[in-house]
This record gives sequence, structure tokens and C-alpha cells, in this order.
Amino acid sequence: MSASETKTTLKIVPILSAGKWIECPSNRTELVFNPSTGQAIGQVPLCTVDQTDSVIQSAVNAFDTWNETPVVERARLMFRMRQLMEERFNEIAALVTREHGKTLAESRAEVQRAVEMVEFACGIPSMIVGQTLPNIASEVDAEAVRHPLGVCVGITPYNFPSMVPMWMIPVALVCGNTFVLKPSEKTPLSANLIGHLLADAGLPDGVFNIVHGDKECVDTLLRHPDVAAISFVGSTPVAKYIYETGTRHGKRVQAAGGAKNHLVIMPDADLEISVKALAASAFGCGGQRCMAGSVALAIGNIGDPLVDGLAEHASQMRVGPSDGNEDVEMGPLIRREHVERVGGFMDVARSEGASVALDGRQDFAGDAFLIGPSVIDNVQSPMRVAQEEIFGPVLSVIRTKDLPGAIELGKACPFGNGASIFTRDGYSARYFKQHFNAGMIGINVGVPAPMPWFPFTGWNQSFFGDLHIQGTESIQFYTRQKMTLTRWFTSSSDSHLDPVWKTARKD
Ligand code: NAD
Repeated sequence: MSASETKTTLKIVPILSAGKWIECPSNRTELVFNPSTGQAIGQVPLCTVDQTDSVIQSAVNAFDTWNETPVVERARLMFRMRQLMEERFNEIAALVTREHGKTLAESRAEVQRAVEMVEFACGIPSMIVGQTLPNIASEVDAEAVRHPLGVCVGITPYNFPSMVPMWMIPVALVCGNTFVLKPSEKTPLSANLIGHLLADAGLPDGVFNIVHGDKECVDTLLRHPDVAAISFVGSTPVAKYIYETGTRHGKRVQAAGGAKNHLVIMPDADLEISVKALAASAFGCGGQRCMAGSVALAIGNIGDPLVDGLAEHASQMRVGPSDGNEDVEMGPLIRREHVERVGGFMDVARSEGASVALDGRQDFAGDAFLIGPSVIDNVQSPMRVAQEEIFGPVLSVIRTKDLPGAIELGKACPFGNGASIFTRDGYSARYFKQHFNAGMIGINVGVPAPMPWFPFTGWNQSFFGDLHIQGTESIQFYTRQKMTLTRWFTSSSDSHLDPVWKTARKD
């Protein structure tokens, strides 16, 4: 079947505007695939400027009423949302696997994190309380309270189709904002399921909206005068563009970008534990995690046994279609072109003088977008495989003399998302924690992704903005403060209300 024939038979993924699911007429659409079968399962409209405008308008119209809704009621809605997510947990996870390709176990872990974001947001009444200081000057009281911003926008990547939107939506909503989500056009189905669940939880029409699209739609959101804030998660070049364009148009922006995460293995580390943790970090979710380990820094004499152990472990991983198949340890990548791009890094590595200890390119049966895990040895810091985000199941090993040498390699990397050390020595762990050039540190933890109660603190080219996603920083991001200074005067008939100190002085 040709691409155009396929498109005429495939269901259009609807947008959500003012509580209505609309099959947007569009000249431009993109196919959504099931990476486990290689088959198209839907087509997503790439919305125009006018279509995007009208979704923003729905969020504008809903703002005043939602803003006036007591915060305790907004929190209760999230309690209902949490209940619904628990009840439909397996359905959400299965959909993530269907449109993304990660294993069902990985999808369940993702949905669990999404639920935890809702749990965090349920605590909003305690977290949003203001500050007061009576008598800051004589008979003058000071008070600071948090107000919502208005219409907030989320623009999200393909790799966590349910979790990353939920990094944003629950917190923005309980703070009193209305929201427009622009999910990845590669994985729009999980986002739509979130929209249905929020409606089932009782969210009023227009408070949460979804628009689908690409650059045209994103640019409309970035420039629109009624959009107050943008939360973005995706690759570094786009994050930088979003930050620069959004702030130029007067918006508050937080933009999380790409990564190149380092895993330091000290000579005293437990080799078996380290190999398993490194493999899980580098090859889990097919390496398509912003916190995936990408470069192993093997210190001293651990290099040979580490590379042997990794190649042995990775070569035995069960790689295959993940949809409906619980037995698989690593599923397909997002698209066929991405498989080709990731595989191409093995040729790049060889041409730059590295050696490939395990090449994941294999002839798999069927049409799934599959590639196995790869291990590249004898990598040097300036090589492309050490510097560029590959975003696939490839681990590059740089053999390094000592821990200070590893710290220097970290400084040479433009990113700064996560880094981990594997050691039994407290002093090395502390030195690493103190000095490594990254915002999220793991000590004997392969994927040091913070839970929702803590901020997701990428550094350098991994984050553009001031206030991070998650934790109390997210509440600061989605609110602005209003200060009130209050002073009241007594009249002569109110002498019985004279302040105590005046009465005391008369006596
Ligand atoms: P991407 O940057 O290609 O796309 C992200 C979003 O931006 C999508 O919604 C897409 O439609 C939109 N977009 C893409 N190109 C655009 C353009 N030119 N103009 C305007 N909008 C555009 O990212 P992706 O491939 O979907 O996701 C993978 C990337 O996300 C990786 O780099 C990964 O490291 C990163 N990521 C980062 C974090 C983090 O917390 N730092 C978390 C998850 C993913």
C-alpha cells in the first residue's frame, strides 16, 4: 500500500479544544507508527496557525473560572486523576509501548513516574501557601501570595509520551493555570489518553487542551500574546530555539535539552553489579532516555574486564518487538531512520580510530525498528561518539587514568544532565559528587533521575532557563507572586481599639 493510500484509511488523531475532540482538517499530516510491527497506526494533523490560535483561545476563555476555583478543589481533582490512572494503569502502559516501542516493564515504570507527579500535585494547598509578616513597619503588615500565570504551554518529546507531559500538566493546573499541550507528533496517542482521563476526573472544558503539529504550530504557541509560559523538553538545538524565541516574545520559559551522560567505574567497583547497572542505563528504553548512560569512563585497570563484561552481557540481551511481548529486554527504536542513524555511529567510530567491541546491527526477522546494543571501545574525548547525543543503545568506553582525569573529561562535554560513579570508596564518591560537571549525580545508581519531589536539574546545554521542572521550583515556575502592604488607621471614635503599646504608655 502506498503512503497516500495508507493515509486515507488511517484514523486522524483528534485535537482537544474547549472539551471537544476535533478531527482537524489538515493538508499536512504525519504517520504514527507501532515500532514493534513497523505499521502505521494513525495519522496526526500538523495544525495551522489558525487552528492553533483557536485552541489557545479555549484555554484563555477557561482561565478566569479555573483561577477562581478553590485550590483544595483543584487538588481533589488530582486525587481523582490519580485514582483513574491507577485503575487504567496497564492500558496507559500498553499504549506507551504501542506507540513508542519500549518494553512493557519500562512503560509501567514510566507510568508510575507519571502517577507520582500527580501525587506531588495533590499536595498543592500546603505548597502554595503564601508568606505574611505582621508589623513589618509600625502597624504595617506584609503579605506575599502566589497567583497563576494564565495560559501555559507544554511542548514534549517522543521518548516519554506519558511521563513528560505529566511533568508539566498536574502542577500547572493545580496552580490555577489553563494549559495547551503540544505532544510529539511521533507519540501523540498517550497524550490524548491523558486528555480523556482528565475529563473523566471532572476537569472543566477548556482548562486542558491538546494541539498537534510541528514547527508551524510550535512557532504560533511561542509568539502568541495570550501564552504566558512555555515548558519544553526535547533535543538541545530545539530547546535553545524555544528558549530564545519564547523569551524574546516575553514568555517565561523552561527548556530541557539533550544529554551525554557519563558513567565512571572505579577500579574498586563491584564488576558484576556495575556491568548490569551500566547495561540497564545505556540500553534501557533502547538508549532513548535523556538520563541514559552514554560514555563509560573506565578508570585504571578496570577497562579490560569492564568491556568484556559489557559486550558479553549486552550480546545476550533479548531484543525484539515489545508490543504484547513481556519476554523482551529491549524493544525497537522509534523509527526506521533512527535505527539507520544509530547504526551509522559504528562506522563513524571506526573511521575515527575507535574499536567496536559489539556491533548491534543484525538481521532481525519482521518489520520492527530493531537494533541490538553496541559497545564501542578505545574512544577518545574529541571523537563524535564521545561528544554527540546518539540517543540509541550505544555505550562508548573511554579508558581513563584516574578520577581527576574523568572530571576533566566531564568538563569538556557541552551537556550536563546526569553522571554516575560506581565505587566502594566514600572519598571517591564524594569527590565525584562535588566536582563532576552535571546537574544530576548518581552514586552506584545508573539512572539518577530525580523523583517528582526534587527538581530535574540539568546543567549547561541540557537546560535553558532558571526554574527547573519538578519539585518546588515547578510551583515557582507556574506562579507569580503578589505583594500586599496593609495599613489601617483608627478614628477618634475607635479609642477602645488603641494598640496595646499606646494604652500601656498612657498608664
Ligand atoms: P525534538 O527536539 O526533536 O522534539 C521535541 C518537541 O519539539 C516535539 O514536540 C517536536 O514537535 C518539537 N520540534 C521539533 N523540531 C522543532 C523545530 N524545529 N521547531 C519547533 N519545534 C520543534 O526531540 P525528540 O526527538 O522528540 O526527543 C528526544 C530528545 O529529547 C533527546 O535529545 C533527549 O535527550 C531529549 N529529552 C530531554 C529530557 C530532559 O529532561 N532534559 C527528557 C526527555 C527527552
